[in-house]
Amino acid sequence: MIQIYNTLGRHKQEFKPIHEGKVLMYQCGPTVYWTQHIGNMRAMIIADLIKRSFEYLGYEVVFTRNYTDVGHLTSDEDFGEDKMEKGAKRENLTPREIADKYISVFEKDVADLNTEEPTFKPLATNYVNEMIEMVSVLLEKGYAYSSDLAIYFDVSKVPNYTKLSGQNLEENVSGAGRAEVEDTGKKNPYDFAIWFFRAGKHKNALQYWNSPFSSPLVENGEGFPGWHMECSAMAKKLLGPTLDIHMGGIEHVPVHHTNEIAQSECANDAPLANFWVHNEHLTVDNGKMSKSIGTAFSLSEIVEKGFSPMDLRFFFLQAHYRSKQNFTWNALKASKQGLDNLKAKISELGSRIGTVDEKFKEDFIVRISDDFNIPSALAVVFEVVKSGLSNEQKLATILDFDKVLGLKLREAIQTQVEISEDIKKLIEERELARKSKDFAKADEIRATLLSQGIELLDGPDGVKVKKVS
Ligand code: AMP
Ligand code: ZN
Repeated sequence: MIQIYNTLGRHKQEFKPIHEGKVLMYQCGPTVYWTQHIGNMRAMIIADLIKRSFEYLGYEVVFTRNYTDVGHLTSDEDFGEDKMEKGAKRENLTPREIADKYISVFEKDVADLNTEEPTFKPLATNYVNEMIEMVSVLLEKGYAYSSDLAIYFDVSKVPNYTKLSGQNLEENVSGAGRAEVEDTGKKNPYDFAIWFFRAGKHKNALQYWNSPFSSPLVENGEGFPGWHMECSAMAKKLLGPTLDIHMGGIEHVPVHHTNEIAQSECANDAPLANFWVHNEHLTVDNGKMSKSIGTAFSLSEIVEKGFSPMDLRFFFLQAHYRSKQNFTWNALKASKQGLDNLKAKISELGSRIGTVDEKFKEDFIVRISDDFNIPSALAVVFEVVKSGLSNEQKLATILDFDKVLGLKLREAIQTQVEISEDIKKLIEERELARKSKDFAKADEIRATLLSQGIELLDGPDGVKVKKVS
């Protein structure tokens, strides 16, 4: 039985999928206007660990993680400028070029961190029609209204608008109600934009689409979707009206996810997600990660300092996803040491892989099934290393657990090459040929051995033998 802490209701609940054996999972992905920091990477690894846990437990996971390439303003609400435009101006590129550039940085980083590919990686700009469709439905059903500047979702129409955060309305929307509300056509400060017309402060918006909506300030309903609308539209199109799991960072509870729920549930007459799973943040030196104070480290900065992506992954495995985790260089050093020690122990186990120990496996399953308790599951790996199991069983069990942990532990196995007498003779013959400068013969022997899966590596302390497949 899998127990998951559901932010909706704030307690652990037994997981029951909508479709047997299948998990429909959506994670709010990156806004691709800048390099993502290691805090963002923590969120991606957490989703990966959850996906891998489900797969280990026998489920098929249909995982969607979007790219936000339009509509996310510098606040999570209706204030500020579009982040993509900010990135475009900073680098003198178009929003499309900025998106392409930072999607490729992100994809390299998450691949280096050994996260599995999502099933779908939609770009918001490719789903504007679906967003327009949902806005139209909300207008038709009376949940939305237009001003000259935007179309707003009418929060007063939803009695349980704050059900996810559990806060009252005044607390729930941190920035709403502030004096600088710029649109006199907005009925209630808590209402949020689901479509912005290309007018007012957005009159020079670089990314815009025609729409069936009308404002006296624009032609053809020109504008762009509100940020929250994209996840609602993409989740519905790719996974259906109700998800098993909707994930995202903890900061999304009061605004982004609250608004996604309101608009999706009113448009679709169905719950948006059965489980809401939120990851806590990574802090640096116990403070918020921030570009301006130089603590928004990227993966490449970690690697430049001599750490591998797996050192960082190992660091992330040590905190539960619902706990804050604090990054310091010393903590990362300790993680590197811990991973190096584990790999050294694995390399002492030989290269024969036996059978998985069922008792340890049971224990591992209990721990990942308890709200994905990865730090506790990781402890089982060390118990296996210390146990009285045979080396072959230890290896098999650890590699089995690594399907969830994703630490590439297989690479630590010593590949011992057993050299037959015939091969030994050939190597000696090649050495002689080399000494007498008969390089043609030496190369020929080298090629013969390679065709048998044996590579000779000439180094300062003699010839080394490597098995190749
Ligand atoms: P963004 O590009 O800001 O929309 O963030 C992409 C993802 O990273 C979102 O799911 C955020 O919730 C998450 N995130 C942002 N900052 C942090 C952090 N410091 N620690 C963990 N996750 C974060
Ligand atoms: Zn989202």
